Amino acid sequence: MPEFECKVCKLKYQDKVTAEQCQKWCSTHSSCNFHIASQAINKQAMEAGELNDARFKSS
Ligand SMILES: [Zn+2]
Repeated sequence: MPEFECKVCKLKYQDKVTAEQCQKWCSTHSSCNFHIASQAINKQAMEAGELNDARFKSS
C-alpha cells in the first residue's frame, strides 16, 4: 500500500491529495489542521507524542 508523507509534520497518508493538503497547511500555518491530521495512517504516533514535532507536544 502506498504511503504519502507530509514532509513538514511527518504524518503519513494513504492518498497523495490529503498528504499534499497537509503539507500545504503545515508549511503555511503554525499548527496542524486536525481534520486533515485525523486522516493520517500514523496518527497514533502523533497522539502518543512520538513524532518529533513540538506542535503536537503543546496540545
Ligand atoms: Zn503535515
